[in-house]
Amino acid sequence: MKMVISTQNQGKIREFARLFASLDAQVYSINELVPNHHVEETGTTFLENACLKARAAHKETGLLAIADDSGLCVDALNGAPGVYSARFGGEGLTDAQRVDKLLDAMKEVKDPKGRTARFVCAICCVLPNGEEIHIQESCEGVLDFAPHGEGGFGYDPIFLVGEKSFSQISGEEKDKISHRGKAVRKFVAALKEHMEQKGDKTSAQQ
Ligand code: IMP
Repeated sequence: MKMVISTQNQGKIREFARLFASLDAQVYSINELVPNHHVEETGTTFLENACLKARAAHKETGLLAIADDSGLCVDALNGAPGVYSARFGGEGLTDAQRVDKLLDAMKEVKDPKGRTARFVCAICCVLPNGEEIHIQESCEGVLDFAPHGEGGFGYDPIFLVGEKSFSQISGEEKDKISHRGKAVRKFVAALKEHMEQKGDKTSAQQ
């Protein structure tokens, strides 16, 4: 089975490749197949943005296309940065600079109980026949007061689950509890079920 993932984020491509290891699939990133591919993320929800990206990739390749949209929702900021997580603080910042901006926005919230947040991941998959699978999962945590750890990407260094940040645990440990890990496992199960129900495993084997 060939599938295309509509993301240019190298951190996500690494995580998806690890999480799809159980599938007998050749996984391409959209840029390998369609150079200069770009989709404006104009949706107001994670699922809307995931669907915009997956539908565009399906239209351009005809393959089973998957896209996720994810981000960090901070309760004290009324859910921000949310769907704007990748752009929080302005265009052209590094992950470390965005982390600093978020810590600054949270500097008045000194009680850890007020620093609750969740990562959310929505997945849209467009099957070769045009049918769609939609999934959304989340992972609850607390924002730290400073970055800790070297691994991961994005806001991982300040997202605490228990004592450790997502940057202080291995990729495999993160997959077990993360929003994306949970969503991808649910997606893989839904995809297998869909194929079995349809009895048309060949439809994905282009
Ligand atoms: P998008 O889904 O590509 O629009 O961007 C999601 C943004 O949310 C990323 O650029 C990160 O800043 C953040 N994000 C999403 N998932 C994670 C994660 O697992 N760890 C850290 N940051 C994440």
